[in-house]
Amino acid sequence: MRNLILLVLAIVTPAAHSQRLEAPVDRSAYYTPDTATTNDLRRVPMPKGFMEPPGAVLVRNARLFDGTGAPARPAAVLIEGSHITQIAKTEADLRLPSGVVIIDAAGKTLMPGLIELHGHLTYLERPGMPAAMSEDSQADAALRGAERMRYFIESGITSVRDVGSHGMAPYLLKLWQYTGRIPGPRLFVAGQLIVGTGGHGTESFTFHTAPEYPDSQIYEANGADGFRAAVRLQFKRGADLIKLASHFSPEEVKAAVEEAHRLGLRVTVDAETLFTDMAVAAGVDCVEHPLPRSDATVRLMAKQGTCADVTLVPYQYIINAGGYFFSTSRRFTLSNEAMFAMAKKMKDAGVTLGIGTDMTYGLYKSLPEPYIQELKNFQQLGYTAAAALVVATRTNAEILGMADRLGTVEVGKLADLIIVDGRPDENPEDLRKVDQVLLNGQVVVREGRIFVPHHVEEKVRFP
Ligand SMILES: [Zn+2]
Repeated sequence: MRNLILLVLAIVTPAAHSQRLEAPVDRSAYYTPDTATTNDLRRVPMPKGFMEPPGAVLVRNARLFDGTGAPARPAAVLIEGSHITQIAKTEADLRLPSGVVIIDAAGKTLMPGLIELHGHLTYLERPGMPAAMSEDSQADAALRGAERMRYFIESGITSVRDVGSHGMAPYLLKLWQYTGRIPGPRLFVAGQLIVGTGGHGTESFTFHTAPEYPDSQIYEANGADGFRAAVRLQFKRGADLIKLASHFSPEEVKAAVEEAHRLGLRVTVDAETLFTDMAVAAGVDCVEHPLPRSDATVRLMAKQGTCADVTLVPYQYIINAGGYFFSTSRRFTLSNEAMFAMAKKMKDAGVTLGIGTDMTYGLYKSLPEPYIQELKNFQQLGYTAAAALVVATRTNAEILGMADRLGTVEVGKLADLIIVDGRPDENPEDLRKVDQVLLNGQVVVREGRIFVPHHVEEKVRFP
């Protein structure tokens, strides 16, 4: 009987998972069942209760949109430490611990925090800034990131996948955030963008690039060994994933993917045309942007489970600004129609689509507008408002590799939650009214503003 069940499972399991060329190494089989690990993609063992906030929080009288695809329903949710521990229709059905802090969400929607799949925390604001605020200043890069983290969290975005930032800045921003020293979303960082010499981002801007400038945003590598070394450098600094961009040779992209996967890291790629084809064949986990690729590659993406972070917003922004010119890594005509056609083609082929906004220059200052616009773009692709919101939460968590901890409101998940004064599952515009944000079980936005508690005074003795 058991064999029969296994056989049936093997038949109904989508080819997506069984035929993936290479996948990141999963080390969980080596852990004992009670091993505590970090809440990031590295999953390194850590002491139990590390960064676990004390106490419990009850969110009552909520209209719960849980991100699983189920319709919104009345609910009370109990959070203990950083995790969701009980969910019931009303608080009368919960076993409440003493000293629980109560948040009344009457008339509001409680839902999982939004996830941003394509951020650049330290991207230069605009050309022509004072020299002290330039690409060569790590201090300015870190401060740019800290400012953007505030905008993200105020907008209800509780996780950001950073896919290309300057030097050590994204790693340090991540460290300062998760140890509670600066407010902001959870960060999952790729570090520097890895390209072949003259690759994307180096051809039409005046960016300084690594390895000559170690603190830059882009790392130019050459040869299979060069790509492996670039991956290992980001891993050493603390990368959660690897970001590649065109151009590269088939051998180079294959080496980078193989190295990253062995280290347990997922790989995403910003590429177009033949380079996307090469990267998908090499087994990348995700492809950024709605740019041209062959029909065979779209089919292969669906078959092996390669996801697409479509990012229509940044290209609509670029098209509005006049277009994308003089770039050797964008050798095709860009149009809104062509982008939507590619996104639609991938959707129809069964490729998993995710939501990212790639806010470069000063676009982050328009938050939450760009994120809401991408949800509306998904509606234009045929998703309902609720289905687009499931992509923004559950599916984005899956693409990130964090679906076991983030993306839905379920018992056992981390309490990254937002309370919205409206019904964003019916109208994305209601995301302008993010009232409260809880991150890791703690209130970080209250009445729409960042809430920073008084620091805990450490005991000190004087003579
Ligand atoms: Zn980008």
